[in-house]
Amino acid sequence: MSTATPAASAQTSTPVGVSTRRDPVFEELGFPPDPENLYTQTVGTMLHAADVIDLHHRVKVILAQPKNELMVHFPVRLDDGKYHLFKGYRVQHNNALGPYKGGLRFHPDVNLDDVKSLALLMTMKCSLVRIPFGGAKGGVKTDPRTLSTGELERVTRRFCTAIMHTIGPDRDIPAPDVGTNAAMMAWFADTYAMTHKATDSLGVVTGKPIAFGGSLGREKATGQGVINTLVELLPSLNISIEGMRISLQGFGNVGSWAGRIVQDLGARIIAVQDHTGCLRNDGGIDCHALAEHVLVSGGIAHFGADSPTGAGARADHGAQAVSEEDFYRTPCDVFIPAALEQMVRAEQADWLGCKVVVEAANAPITPDGDRVLARRGIEVVPAILANAGGVVVSYFEWLQNKASQYWDAEKVDHELNRVMVMAARRTLVCKQKYEVDMRTAAYTSALDHIAQVYNARGIFP
Ligand code: NAD
Repeated sequence: MSTATPAASAQTSTPVGVSTRRDPVFEELGFPPDPENLYTQTVGTMLHAADVIDLHHRVKVILAQPKNELMVHFPVRLDDGKYHLFKGYRVQHNNALGPYKGGLRFHPDVNLDDVKSLALLMTMKCSLVRIPFGGAKGGVKTDPRTLSTGELERVTRRFCTAIMHTIGPDRDIPAPDVGTNAAMMAWFADTYAMTHKATDSLGVVTGKPIAFGGSLGREKATGQGVINTLVELLPSLNISIEGMRISLQGFGNVGSWAGRIVQDLGARIIAVQDHTGCLRNDGGIDCHALAEHVLVSGGIAHFGADSPTGAGARADHGAQAVSEEDFYRTPCDVFIPAALEQMVRAEQADWLGCKVVVEAANAPITPDGDRVLARRGIEVVPAILANAGGVVVSYFEWLQNKASQYWDAEKVDHELNRVMVMAARRTLVCKQKYEVDMRTAAYTSALDHIAQVYNARGIFP
């Protein structure tokens, strides 16, 4: 690729994505001085890139706050007959490029500032990959693992009803994220369809089952996009896929697909972590067998001889349980965080034994962690590039729903790869042009596109 920058030069003194300076926009908008706050961190990253391209002040201020923040409370009857009041959110960050778009998360830690942060990332992501969507995010504060299927369905349907007035196929389109899945998107779409015209209602949500308007390739899309991006960047990172050693944090939808896909390309997954523990096998962990094991047991723990599925029973496919610190310290070529936000802080960044971090999760590295990685010369492929595959295939699903015409898997894969490759190249061009790290480069490309749209549209009235 002609625009590629060799990893060696990337590891010189390029400015790191988040400076320690507090941008004056924070004072102007009255942000409390809390450097640990995820929203403050995300806005800080965006403002740093905005300064690099000298983004107009009015656009900076618009993007530093979401357009709409909705918080809802709704009661649901649990299986024991008692009622529980649930708290849910939908944050619509920006719609300059098109309808708001972003996932729904069901997790006990869901809170307004994190949802705002994830919504801002969606605005940047859609802009970087040049799809006509804005950014949004939502969620319900609950642990879905503690709910029965019936309870989960009632919570999903009540949540959909609570935010129904503000979503729609041309207005705001949710999708799955942590703790949500295709079955829940089907309940969501069905609930919406009860009060809307059936012909247009399918596109209200993406990530649906294939039988109910879903797209082939959507389930694996985020993991596939992570690997498409990595493969495209390999020449600039000076690593080859054959025999590449990978450490994977998170083995849910994104992590398990990324692991299986990259393993099939010849890489070796030598360490995996999830909420149940950490595994290591320098000979390689079979991600197909591990995915089977997780499906049955709910986590990676006990993968090996005592797995209920027998998966991983072969000594060469099994793995040893290791501590969290040993997991981070595993020497490898690529570390792929695919779990939750803010997991790689300064301490973990210091432990990491990799050459490159590819962010499959959203915001997995704190600004302090970023600075440590930059000091250690570890390149970071940012989430708004690496994990954009999910929203890209969501866009394809939405197009298919609108046209009532469905694509084959080859077309989805081909189009996804095309979009990811273009976004990776765009990022490398900005990296070279502005002499910045890859995170800042990706944001500059995204911001430049939004700025051009605001320039063309003007600001109403
Ligand atoms: P998921 O719920 O399917 O999987 C989450 C994984 O993280 C699980 O393996 C879980 O065990 C692990 N995990 C949770 N807490 C952990 C902890 N404390 N330590 C280690 N592991 C832990 O979620 P997902 O859909 O795979 O999403 C993962 C990340 O990717 C999130 O940041 C999400 O926002 C992002 N993302 C998802 C999509 C998508 O299409 N699903 C798209 C873009 C970005």
